[in-house]
Amino acid sequence: MKRIDLEHEDLVRVWRRDFPILDTRPNGKPLIYLDNAATTQKPFHVIEAEANYYRNTNSNVHRGVHWLAERATDAYERSRATVARFINAAHPSEIVFVRGTTEAINLVAHSFARPRLQPGDEIVLTTIEHHSNIVPWQIVCEQTGATLKVVPVDDTGTLDVDAYARLLGPHTKLVALAHISNALGTVNPVRNMIEQAHALGIPVLLDGAQAVAHLPVDVRALDCDFYAFSGHKLYGPTGIGVLYGKSTWLDAMPPWQGGGDMIRTVSFEKTTYNELPWKFEAGTPNIAGAIGLAAAIDYFGTIGFSAIEASEHALLDYATVELQRIDGVKLIGTAADKSGILSFVVDGIHAHDVGSILSDAGIAVRAGHHCAMPVMTRFKVPATVRASLALYNTHEEIDALVKGLARVKEWFGHE
Ligand SMILES: *Cc1c(COP(=O)(O)O)cnc(C)c1O
Repeated sequence: MKRIDLEHEDLVRVWRRDFPILDTRPNGKPLIYLDNAATTQKPFHVIEAEANYYRNTNSNVHRGVHWLAERATDAYERSRATVARFINAAHPSEIVFVRGTTEAINLVAHSFARPRLQPGDEIVLTTIEHHSNIVPWQIVCEQTGATLKVVPVDDTGTLDVDAYARLLGPHTKLVALAHISNALGTVNPVRNMIEQAHALGIPVLLDGAQAVAHLPVDVRALDCDFYAFSGHKLYGPTGIGVLYGKSTWLDAMPPWQGGGDMIRTVSFEKTTYNELPWKFEAGTPNIAGAIGLAAAIDYFGTIGFSAIEASEHALLDYATVELQRIDGVKLIGTAADKSGILSFVVDGIHAHDVGSILSDAGIAVRAGHHCAMPVMTRFKVPATVRASLALYNTHEEIDALVKGLARVKEWFGHE
């Protein structure tokens, strides 16, 4: 493709044109969107795919015999096949559409873990999980008498893999961990961790919410048992996400929610369930969302991971150096293997104040605990400012962030 020959920054300028929201001007200033770990912006392709669905195809799926119903069902199931190819699942029936990462993890907690857990059993997590990958496990632990074991991290935000190996044992029933940490950007050595768990017969769930938009994911190469992600962090719509599960597990799991579409026959004496993946999709699904997600994946395919990774990594390296040069700014999370997330604190200034002054300058960052309070506790900070990168971010935007931080310090008389 011609695009690949361009320099990175030129490439980024071409990609930016695909995202209409980047033309909005908060407070009359150009929008600098650095809150991509919370949600990414949407390209025309996704916006149009959803609009076109409602314009031309809208109907309920798997039910009607009429032309529109067939068209909608076709489009919905083709989206599932697109997702399966995207993460290299063995078959589209291993792809369950859900609302997002949170719902995917809850599904596994309630349908997979709860029936298997007994008092004394253990689930292994890490210190750097999102609340979505902590609380569902706490709930099933309360219900079953199982307990959580937590893998510690060092001062850079890197998992202690020796401690992980020691935590695995005969009582471990499941490992659940982030592929990439949303609070720190650490890329965890998941392939090795899965291998170690499997050597002891322990299944592994990966929370891929931060990974799918930043590195190629191959669930069969990883050999993970479950993989969860959200469409909206992958340039797709909100309200749609994916649970991948190995069919052997999904087949053995009871349905999670009951209702239409997930059944084969219903009587008051006995109901029989639909086959995979529909057994787990009770009620009318987010059809437009699934189609929008497939459009996001197709859009992604036209750009290619190698270009995105190269561009985001160059920007991460640049931003890391620039931020570390600012007096009083301290990066939280400096693992050797990192994705485009820069969490930091500014000496003597609360993260929320930093965030709101940056907002006046048109710069959107996140300030808070990032749904990862145990991370804040571990690093002894109440909150951090988080700048997170996407394919459309530029060096100029990092320069603007650095300038904005100088303004923040002036404002507080720290300069
Ligand atoms: C965003 C995120 C989640 C939750 O995703 P939802 O789309 O809110 O369900 C879970 N884990 C990680 C690592 C995340 O970044």
